[in-house]
Amino acid sequence: MRPLFLLAVLGLVTATGCDTIVSGDGTSSSQASSTSSTTTSSSPVPAPPPLWKAGPREVRGELKEIAARFVQEVGTWSADDDRDAVARIVAAGYPADLLETAKPLFGIEADDVRTTIVYPQYGGLTDTSASVIVLARQEWRDQGNKRSREVEIDVRLRSAATGWAVTSVVDPARPPGPPQVPGGPTAQGQAVLGNPRIALPDPVREDIAGRRLGDPIMAVMTALAAEYMIEAQVVITGHPGTVYPTTRLSNHVVGRAVDVRSINGVRVVDIDRADPVLTAFMAAAGRAGATEVGGPIRVAGTGFFTDDVHQDHIHLGITPTKPPAVAA
Ligand SMILES: [Zn+2]
Repeated sequence: MRPLFLLAVLGLVTATGCDTIVSGDGTSSSQASSTSSTTTSSSPVPAPPPLWKAGPREVRGELKEIAARFVQEVGTWSADDDRDAVARIVAAGYPADLLETAKPLFGIEADDVRTTIVYPQYGGLTDTSASVIVLARQEWRDQGNKRSREVEIDVRLRSAATGWAVTSVVDPARPPGPPQVPGGPTAQGQAVLGNPRIALPDPVREDIAGRRLGDPIMAVMTALAAEYMIEAQVVITGHPGTVYPTTRLSNHVVGRAVDVRSINGVRVVDIDRADPVLTAFMAAAGRAGATEVGGPIRVAGTGFFTDDVHQDHIHLGITPTKPPAVAA
């Protein structure tokens, strides 16, 4: 792992959270989790991958690079590195108090683990702080078997005199989310999990399998998948619990929202803003029952919004007291 920290730049950004206020409750939450899968192969684990680089369309891409670098560097180790998690965090050049943030990256009993970034999406952004929801894949070998898992980490950044850096401070504190419910996914959950037109990261699959994500928002996903191929980034695990940077409860933490990273195989951040698919998709989400639809463009009507945070995903949420979004 290469030691380094800090980097960078101040700038002007508007404060924008990922969604709107809801009321709700719950008894537990998790910041991140993972499942592993196994395949057999004989080739060795390759060298650590290059660091994730932001494309030109990313808003404040340098901030995403700081968050992604933290996850990659702390989540990648070899036999030469210390076995102790805190020691590895410090060796990578980060403060020891980031253990809680980095915890999902550990727990793998292997000498060589490499972590690559699937995508870092904003959970919130202000002039002085940010939440980056980093979805990453970890790969290692277990008795010759190639194994991998996906983890989702809400990496918080703060600007300081020395530049922006990862911080352990989660402010406001993360409220509890819905508890895991045994018994496996609901029928609607099974439909989403088994839908080949809906790609889901491991932590999202676990939220669904644990009945943490509500049926109404999954019905919206199912309806949209009839028209579009969609890739989800995050639902509950790994998402800020409040509407960043406020204390208002987020629809995510109560299982009523999903962030869509790509449509028909194209990442939202890369879709041309004049492409009609953006308006069509967001309008269809309203017809399917979403009451709040945030994306990279302004859609005329009610229930739609856009801001800097939503340049890289489309937020679909349901506030039970509100009517579905309707395009003008
Ligand atoms: Zn969202």
